[in-house]
Amino acid sequence: MIVSLSLCKQTMSLLDIPSGVLKSNFFRPRQEKEKVVILMGATGTGKSRLSVDLATRLPAEIINSDKIQVHAGLDIATNKIPEEERCGIPHHMLGVISPYTDLTATDFVDMASHAMDSILSRSQVPIIAGGSNSYIEALVDDEDFRFRSRYECCFLCVDVAMPVLHQYVSERVDKMVEMGMIDEVRSFFDANANYAVGIRKAIGVPEFDRYFRAEPYLDKQQRGKLLQEAIQEIKRNTCKLACRQLEKIDRLRNKKNWKIHMVDATEVFRRRGKDEDEAWEKLVAGPSTEIVAEFLYN
Ligand code: ATP
Repeated sequence: MIVSLSLCKQTMSLLDIPSGVLKSNFFRPRQEKEKVVILMGATGTGKSRLSVDLATRLPAEIINSDKIQVHAGLDIATNKIPEEERCGIPHHMLGVISPYTDLTATDFVDMASHAMDSILSRSQVPIIAGGSNSYIEALVDDEDFRFRSRYECCFLCVDVAMPVLHQYVSERVDKMVEMGMIDEVRSFFDANANYAVGIRKAIGVPEFDRYFRAEPYLDKQQRGKLLQEAIQEIKRNTCKLACRQLEKIDRLRNKKNWKIHMVDATEVFRRRGKDEDEAWEKLVAGPSTEIVAEFLYN
């Protein structure tokens, strides 16, 4: 039943209205919920690529939900999507905060809410994409259900069979090294650094610490050995991160009943070149676009 404001004025005083009701915009005309897309998945599965594919086909802008990529710096080590792959789509919360401060879950929720408002004010759809599942959970399942009462969500998850993903992320670490990851991380090396704060928590920074400390005192062979050990540790830790992320997504699906559309990209990772691009379109980008278009327009 829609109650007019004048009737409300006659029958209720502000003091009669519970504060929770005031918070939920009692005096605003009832309107449909705003729509938001949330794109999840373990590291390396292709979330960034898919977010750009969706945003080039639908009126959307992207909000990063990787709590490490939100910091400025370490673009190679943290695997930020390069400018040229963003296809001109605005990316919010990517490389915007100091490398030396922490982004708490509360900071993330505040910044993401602000970005969503700004995107919606331009009649665009926010696509929240990234791997920090506990922060996504803090945003979506807040204590007083404000997010759920205001937004309708379409959850998508890019899924890749773990052995295939492990192989891929290990090769990705080798590529990062080729692209200059060691010097990039060296620029953040400080013998007294705190690895529990800011961007220094990124996989790659603590792992290279022993190598940077010992480097000046070792011969070439010893340096090479230590470097290989650090690279192997980065690969192991990236695989562990992928497993943890998938466990968290499983918990959100099974224990919290989030209705997450799983899109299986495993086959894409078994192909190369043109075959890979075709499989991506057929198995991932195409079906995901259909799911999101159905959510937005039907
Ligand atoms: P929790 O806060 O409970 O650990 P989460 O899902 O919010 O879970 P993740 O985003 O998975 O956290 O990050 C956990 C850790 O994984 C980070 O502290 C960092 O060490 C590493 N990590 C995450 N994203 C990246 C990244 N893009 N580059 C390098 N390391 C990362």
